[in-house]
Amino acid sequence: MSRHQISVSIDRLRGKRADAGPTRRMPGDDRSCPKCESHFRADEMERNCYVCAVCGYHFPMTARQRLDHLSGGAGWEEIGGELRAADPLRFIDLQPYTERVQAAEAKGATEAIIAASLEIEGRPCVVAAMDFAFLGGSMGSVVGERFARAAEVAVAQNVPLISITSSGGARMQEGVLALMQMAKSIVALDELAQAGLPFLMVLAHPTTGGVWASFASLGDVTYAEPGALIAFSGPRVIEQTTREKLPADFGLAERQYDHGHVDAVVDRRDLPRRLAHLMMILEQPPRDEAQSLASQLAQNGTERAARMAQALPSLTRRFRGQSESSSAGEVSGS
Ligand SMILES: [Zn+2]
Repeated sequence: MSRHQISVSIDRLRGKRADAGPTRRMPGDDRSCPKCESHFRADEMERNCYVCAVCGYHFPMTARQRLDHLSGGAGWEEIGGELRAADPLRFIDLQPYTERVQAAEAKGATEAIIAASLEIEGRPCVVAAMDFAFLGGSMGSVVGERFARAAEVAVAQNVPLISITSSGGARMQEGVLALMQMAKSIVALDELAQAGLPFLMVLAHPTTGGVWASFASLGDVTYAEPGALIAFSGPRVIEQTTREKLPADFGLAERQYDHGHVDAVVDRRDLPRRLAHLMMILEQPPRDEAQSLASQLAQNGTERAARMAQALPSLTRRFRGQSESSSAGEVSGS
């Protein structure tokens, strides 16, 4: 075969590459916007909650950054932070599972979820935030356990539970133990529901697989970040399986909103205010008030029963007979 010169750029052929406009995104550069190619300094990124100030593109955020953002820098108390992944299957793919976990831990996170109690604009709550940077935000036994403990703490403290998801699904290295976390997280939410406490969901990019198929789709109110992919399978997998072209906006937050799967698409910079407002709307009356209301109702019920008994002579006779026998100190053995 003859050798052809391969020209990759018309600009380069025309000698225009040097003045090609805005700074190009470099591979691995996490401060250049992949949508509009604007570049930001680290402090600008942090101040703007990792959202592109030009086009509104939402960059990934770690779980710690999310908790700092929601708490307004006032701090948070971690739940289940001591839990670490075990390797019961001794799983090895291209690399042993334990080595993958160690490499992920070296980047700063201890697992793909961090749960903490904190206050959002003065409203106490428990937040479980996921971290895609830790093994693709995959749900293993530690993620399930930390989520369940977060729900338990929310019930104990009588506060709402909020979760921010960013996950590729169940962690394959933990096999069926990872899949069991789907059921576990749902049971934890059932206990929260029985306590009459709200579960608020924020779907960040991407929320897929076992996480979307379990607790992430069970929010009493569900918000999504702009441009987030929310689907059981990603478009690439579906296209490869069905050999059909999917629409460009398949599974995106805006499309999910159009189809009623999410309640609102919320800019990350507005999340603390929106969540605090939601908690204010859903807030229960204090427990003392609820108990006094219950005792009032019980009292009314007794009075009504007494009135009914007086209105019905036959019942009254039986009622009198019972009350006289009990006042005479005769206690039946049954
Ligand atoms: Zn941008």
